[in-house]
Formats: sequence, C-alpha cells, structure tokens
Amino acid sequence: MSRFWSPVVQTLTPYIPGEQPQMQRLVKLNTNESPYGPSPKALAAIASQNTADLRLYPDPEGIALKNEIAKLHGLDPKQIFLGNGSDEVLAHVFAGLLKHQDPILFPDITYSFYPVYCKLFGIEYKTIPLGSNFEIEVSTYTSPNGGIIFPNPNAPTGRAIARQEIETLVLKNRDSVIVIDEAYVDYGTESCIPLLRGSNCPENLLVVHTLSKSRALAGLRVGFAAGHPTLIEGLERVKNSFNSYPLGRLAQAGAIAAIQDQAHLEETSQKVIQTRERLNAQLAELGFETLPSAANFIFTRHPHHAGAKLCQLLRERGIIVRHFKSPRIEEFLRITIGTDEQTHELVAALKEILATA
Ligand SMILES: *Cc1c(COP(=O)(O)O)cnc(C)c1O
Repeated sequence: MSRFWSPVVQTLTPYIPGEQPQMQRLVKLNTNESPYGPSPKALAAIASQNTADLRLYPDPEGIALKNEIAKLHGLDPKQIFLGNGSDEVLAHVFAGLLKHQDPILFPDITYSFYPVYCKLFGIEYKTIPLGSNFEIEVSTYTSPNGGIIFPNPNAPTGRAIARQEIETLVLKNRDSVIVIDEAYVDYGTESCIPLLRGSNCPENLLVVHTLSKSRALAGLRVGFAAGHPTLIEGLERVKNSFNSYPLGRLAQAGAIAAIQDQAHLEETSQKVIQTRERLNAQLAELGFETLPSAANFIFTRHPHHAGAKLCQLLRERGIIVRHFKSPRIEEFLRITIGTDEQTHELVAALKEILATA
C-alpha cells in the first residue's frame, strides 16, 4: 500500500497469470501455450522486419493485418479490431462496451480476468452458475444486464456450446452486447464468426480471438475482435484514447503471415486434438474424471486425490500444471495438451504418484 496509489489501485486484486518458470527441462503444461512452434512463415516475416525501419512508428490502424483477418473470415475490414493480445482487446471491450447501468453477466467458473477488469473499470457483475456438469446454460442468462461475456469453449473447463445457442442468446438480448471469447475455438468448437457475415450481422455480437494459443504466438501479443462496424468504432475510440500503436511492426508482420498459413494452424491443431483424446483415455484408465474438452487443455479430477496435492506432487517431478483454489473446482487440475512425449511423461508421473500416495 502507498498513499500515492489512486483509490481504485488500492482496491485492485490483479489477475495472476500462470507462472513462466526460468528452470530448464520442465514439462510446462500450465498456460495453454502451443507445444509446436508458430508458422515458419511468421518467423521469417518477423525476421524481415528487423531493420532500421524500426525507427518508424508502425501503422496505427494495422490495415494490412485487418485485411488479412477479414479475408480469412469472410468479413469486412471495418469489422475487425486489433489489440496487443486479446487481453488488451478484452480490456477495451469492458471499458467501451460493457460498462452500463445494469451488471454484466458471466459464468461463476470462467476466465478469472473478467472480474479483474470489472474492478478496474468499476463495472458491476453477476455470476451465473454453470450447470451440474459444468456446462454453460444460455437459458439461465435472463436477468437485465449491461452485457454478457463468456469463452466458448469455456475456460478452465474446456466445455463448448453450439453456435445455435449463442445465436438464440444474441436474439433475446437485443439491448446489450454479447461477447464470445473464442481463445480456444480452433480445437473443435463452432465459431460464431459466420454469424457476423453480410448484412445480417447482429449489432450486439462481438467475437474475440487470439493468436496466442492455436497460432502459437503468445510471445508476440496479438489478438482481435470481430463484430458489427459500430461496435468496432466504439472500440477504436477507446484504443485511440489509450495507445495509438498497440501492435509493433514485428507483431503486425508476424500476425499477417500467421493468419495466411492456415495449413500450419490445421496441422498443429489436429495434432493437439489427437493427443488430447489419447490423454483422456489414459487418464480414464487411472480413474480420473475428465470433462469433455474442446480446447488445448483438459480439466480433470481424481475421486481419491486432492487437486492441490496432485499439483504439488507433479511439480516435484518437474511437471507444471494449473490448479485453482476456487469453490466448485478445487479438486480439478487444468492440464495443457503438450507434445506426445510430454503427455507420456505426465501419465508416467501420475501413475507413480497414484501407486505411492
Ligand atoms: C489465453 C486467453 C486469453 C488471452 O490471450 P492473449 O491474447 O494472450 O492475451 C483470453 N481469453 C481466454 C479465455 C484465454 O484463455
């Protein structure tokens, strides 16, 4: 505490990201990074920007990248908003589209950054409990609200819902914005972006994507939102009141090349999905109960072993997974899908732990 902190800073409880340990030789399965590198074309594009032109500011609007994203998704570039990672996009969404009289709604178990943004921007919120199998039930999002936000698939559960359900929610909530955070959409979930195409684009649906997960560029910091041009215009107003240049030259060039390399995305996502299904089967043999996942991580618990303890014992064996000390999910571990080799090490360690614990 310091008397120099403004009142809001005194009250903040910041988001705590999964750790990035400096130790070598760890099996790092705690922050949902891709185990495979980014597109080699993205790496080449980034290297090509390593010139004296770095003395120049980047394009503040990121037009070339917007064009590329719009082309890939069948949208107009005016429907795309760019940010320094989707966390920054989300920050502008909270400040610019979700701060109204009524509280916003999100699930009781979801991305833990959402309540942090609410606190920072002074936004009231109400959490809606997930169903008994940890599924989002859109029919329970009925109270008056200043907006609704959730990831699809949800994090940290990995459970996805159908596009049709979100379409219904959008139609029933004409007076507030529905934000779908599709950070993990490439691992087997129906995207809502097709709903945004053409003249039927709803005025109140915003879809947020990141290049950090399936495009393996967490270190580059690029995310975007897609939606109706008037929503995007609102976000641009916030962005241009905060930082005109959120994406540097390297980030813009790398992102363009990554978006163009759809083959790399599909190949690496398929590998992750296959490893995920194999891991699910192996964990089931060990007695784990795993939620059906449409993400590059799984959410799993063992009926006879506490989550915190398992997390600790794995850690002692050099394997880092994520555990949340929150109600309803304390028994679970969130495990990122790594390479087959990492998964093998994980399963071997768990076997050893269960045999001795
Ligand atoms: C990882 C993640 C993000 C943030 O991604 P960045 O683009 O790296 O900031 C946003 N939402 C969810 C649900 C995530 O899991």
